[in-house]
Amino acid sequence: MGKPTGFLEIERKTVSEIAPLERIKNWKEFKIHASEAHQRAQAARCMDCGTPFCHTGMLFSGMASGCPINNLIPEFNDLIYKNRWREALDRLLKTNNFPEFTGRVCPAPCEGSCTLGVIEPPVTIKNNECAIIDRGWEEGWMAPRSPAKRTGKKVAVIGSGPSGLSCADQLNQAGHLVTVYERADRPGGLLMYGIPNMKLDKSDVVLRRIRLMEEEGVRFVTSCEVGKDISADQIHQEYDAIVFCTGATVPRDLPIPGRELKGVHFAMEFLSGNTRHLLDSQMDGSLPDIHAKGKNVVVIGGGDTGTDCVGTSIRHGALSVVQLEIMPRPPLQRTPDNPWPEWPKVYKMDYGQEEAAALQGADPRHYLVMSERFIGDENGNLTGVEIVDIEWGKDASGRMAPIPKPESRRVLPAQLVTLAMGFLGPEQGILKELGVTTDPRSNIQAQHGAFKTNVEGIFAAGDCRRGQSLVVWAINEGRGAAREVDRFLMGVSHLP
Ligand SMILES: Cc1cc2nc3c(=O)[nH]c(=O)nc-3n(C[C@H](O)[C@H](O)[C@H](O)COP(=O)(O)OP(=O)(O)OC[C@H]3O[C@@H](n4cnc5c(N)ncnc54)[C@H](O)[C@@H]3O)c2cc1C
Ligand code: SF4
Repeated sequence: MGKPTGFLEIERKTVSEIAPLERIKNWKEFKIHASEAHQRAQAARCMDCGTPFCHTGMLFSGMASGCPINNLIPEFNDLIYKNRWREALDRLLKTNNFPEFTGRVCPAPCEGSCTLGVIEPPVTIKNNECAIIDRGWEEGWMAPRSPAKRTGKKVAVIGSGPSGLSCADQLNQAGHLVTVYERADRPGGLLMYGIPNMKLDKSDVVLRRIRLMEEEGVRFVTSCEVGKDISADQIHQEYDAIVFCTGATVPRDLPIPGRELKGVHFAMEFLSGNTRHLLDSQMDGSLPDIHAKGKNVVVIGGGDTGTDCVGTSIRHGALSVVQLEIMPRPPLQRTPDNPWPEWPKVYKMDYGQEEAAALQGADPRHYLVMSERFIGDENGNLTGVEIVDIEWGKDASGRMAPIPKPESRRVLPAQLVTLAMGFLGPEQGILKELGVTTDPRSNIQAQHGAFKTNVEGIFAAGDCRRGQSLVVWAINEGRGAAREVDRFLMGVSHLP
């Protein structure tokens, strides 16, 4: 273990961030790299406890407890403390293909189950992970590793999000010839066009990794939608195996009166349009087609996608930003039915809310609120959203449902609304074409661990199989699917 008395002597300190009012002036990442001394001290807090729940990745009450890719956390903490960074990197890369992504965007279920967290704030595992991989890139240790031998087997991965990338990386290292098809103009899936640049830099972090994978032999075909630009049948004939990593891209709509008004958009139209514009314009300060400058913005949905809409709107120069959530505000502390080592379901201010609070004086989220109607002018432009406070109760059929409080009905001014209420599952067209079956939630039917669909040689991983989730789960699934594809192609697999 690191320092036996570390957790008694050293307090948790996460890496610093650029202050909200400063960072909203640009689109750069706002977390500041910590010094080596800081990171070693934080790693020294790890107790190397008898049962490190942090790396179990088990599901409790449907939520991950511990790292879903089983990162060897106490081991890398110990190596950081001892200043053995190269070995820490080797240890980290055993389980995680892309620590530079998770080290930036993972909500860190590992920290929720850290044993130190029972009595003290947990170890800064996510920061430690990020420090190892960032150092690996800086030192030039992240050099291309091409497989010693090629098998001659060809695999098509459809979709280049974290599940597709991790699957491709593993299969390439196993010696197969991998082609990743991506319909967007740049690879990365939601790493590229979902999560905004200030959380995960596109050129310096995402594309850097894609370039490395290309050097290692993975082929990327972008602006190519399978089922449209190239037929699913052709792919099926050309390749020895196919892996669906197409994501859960069908957004949940809000079909209330006025939905058709100009100014009401799905969050992904807003976010992906913004990132594409930033990259195409090289951040010259111009605005994308859908923008928030000078507008009252209402974000419907209190989750992470909504937070990204808040942060993006603020950087555009919105007049005001309000975020609506239909569920109650989470408690400040764990409740008795949410004990350690479960994922703590507690109230948090994320970066977007911190920025809105710095500008507007308060958290922009309004809880227990339902949107009933969009209001527009005679030209079909959005001017407001009628909302009502609700409480949760049973409806006539005995199901839990929102019960409006009519006296609270009011109109929020709005010229831009973004709908960030989650996703319903993968698009179905190409699945039907290939005869791939889906489960009752419309996700691809394939068991976790086996990842194979009902069609011989076709596998599925990531959000298109498990429903909308997290980057770390996508990596877990991409790795698992790669192992099963390798076994299918070779009869046996040595992939983890
Ligand atoms: C706005 C937003 C912010 C998020 N923030 C976080 C976060 O901070 N932390 C976190 O852990 N998770 C976050 N998530 C969730 C996370 O991004 C996803 O769980 C993860 O990206 C899923 O990975 P995936 O590879 O399964 O799919 P995706 O990343 O969705 O990638 C699927 C890819 O497949 C492509 N595709 C689909 N159909 C075809 C086709 N027919 N032909 C070719 N290409 C196709 C799509 O264009 C897409 O690029 C966020 C999600 C959103 C929407
Ligand atoms: S990937 Fe996520 S859960 Fe795993 S160690 Fe990193 S931050 Fe923790």
